[in-house]
Amino acid sequence: MADLYIDGEWTAAAAGGRREVLNPFDASVVREVDEADATDVDRAVRAARRAFDEEDWARAPVRRRADVLRGVGELLLRDVEEIGRTETLDTGKTLTEARIDVEDVANAFRYFAEIAGKDGGRVVDVGPGVLSRVVYEPIGVCALIAPWNYPLLQASWKVAPALAAGNTFVLKPSEVTPLSSLLMMRLIEEAGAPRGVANLVLGSGAGVGAALTAHPDVDLVSFTGGLSTGRNIMASAATDVKNIALELGGKNPNIVFADADFDAALDYALDAAFLHSGQVCSAGSRLLVQDELYEEFVAALARRAEAIRLGSGLDPATESGPLSSAEHRAKVEGYLEIARTEGARLVTGGRRPDDPQLARGYFLLPTIYADCDRSMRIVQEEVFGPVVTAERFRDEAHAVSLANDTRYGLAGAVWTSDASRAQRVANALRHGTVWINDFHPYLPQAEWGGFGRSGVGRELGPTGLHEYQETKHIYQNLDPAPSGWFKG
Ligand code: NAP
Repeated sequence: MADLYIDGEWTAAAAGGRREVLNPFDASVVREVDEADATDVDRAVRAARRAFDEEDWARAPVRRRADVLRGVGELLLRDVEEIGRTETLDTGKTLTEARIDVEDVANAFRYFAEIAGKDGGRVVDVGPGVLSRVVYEPIGVCALIAPWNYPLLQASWKVAPALAAGNTFVLKPSEVTPLSSLLMMRLIEEAGAPRGVANLVLGSGAGVGAALTAHPDVDLVSFTGGLSTGRNIMASAATDVKNIALELGGKNPNIVFADADFDAALDYALDAAFLHSGQVCSAGSRLLVQDELYEEFVAALARRAEAIRLGSGLDPATESGPLSSAEHRAKVEGYLEIARTEGARLVTGGRRPDDPQLARGYFLLPTIYADCDRSMRIVQEEVFGPVVTAERFRDEAHAVSLANDTRYGLAGAVWTSDASRAQRVANALRHGTVWINDFHPYLPQAEWGGFGRSGVGRELGPTGLHEYQETKHIYQNLDPAPSGWFKG
């Protein structure tokens, strides 16, 4: 079966393009997929335009869209094993994590089905003789561009609210990890989305992604990915003054005070830094530890990091998989060299593993640098790999000053047994999500997004739906009469 989904048909690329999708565990070919070009993008956008303008989707009762979303949620759970396995082969992450991702994706669809019709706008009270209503409407054709680290999850945070609001869309997953999006599109088709409402194009960012964001018939671009791509997309969207939503990178502080529960803080510091080999936008890659605890904490973290079992995501004994691609590992290795020249103290890792069974995969050892300071690039830039830097702090004010000294602002955590201090620090942090005595949880009901250069707008929560809506004011004079403004 062909892999592009355009106007309700599974179709091959017009120019016959194909691309191999690799398993990052051993560089084997998982499968070949069709590779679109600008002609296919144009077909997909036109199909979405036609469906938005002509199909009974944007104007249908909200119940109809909610039924489709609920249906997708159920089908995802029916196919959790197949989709989870596909995500593992595509990304290298463990099957346990991939299954959780699919369940979270189903929850996102259910959540947006639930809130789709909740906010019907409002009536503004201007007294008798006027009916003033504020209503929400779909924006139109949405270009949805997702990254490779959580391919299905990040796509679902866009697809579900876009559909709930009554938009049509063209989705472009990363060329590195297109397979789970393909399965999701089959489920959207099975759940009964009308022809042209949901479209999928596969291909490179520079080719297909750029053609999609620049297309004049696109009304909104929603993008999750890196800062420099985000800048390009913002510039491209400016030409037609498109709506944009950007979820970009992070350099997220994990602050551990001396009064924290040591074992819990240590365990979560490990998760924060090394889950999915650190390829998480909200990874706690910047560890800040209070002076008196610093040496003991960093040493214990290193012992735990050295015990992480690397391997195939399909092996139940594996705790962490490879990096997603050879190119990405090379980028992360570039940062290891930067850390070395900047004088960061390597505590553990900093190289590829010796195990010959891992030699064909894109592995790197969990890596800790100590005695870092805020002026270093390894502390300020997003590495997006299994690399954590450790810095010391004296007191609360110093911790907050370090944690806010970043151009990003996606997420951060504070570990302390002092409840008042926890709240003070949470209030002071300039980050979109703050965890207290925890790391990484997110909820479909709560907004996700960043301050500063971590992005524009929010996903999830009611705001995540409003990103896909236009706001219209309808003012009706119920008792029209001449105004008498001009006397002639
Ligand atoms: P990326 O290189 O920016 O790519 C993201 C997506 O954009 C991919 O589909 C990519 O396609 C596409 N793309 C690349 N160049 C493009 C262009 N000129 N025009 C349109 N699309 C283009 O990011 P990534 O390396 O996949 O993902 C890692 C980044 O995502 C990290 O910075 C991470 O922090 C961020 N992220 C943020 C969040 C969040 O919620 N804030 C969540 C997850 C990830 P190809 O891959 O096919 O080239």
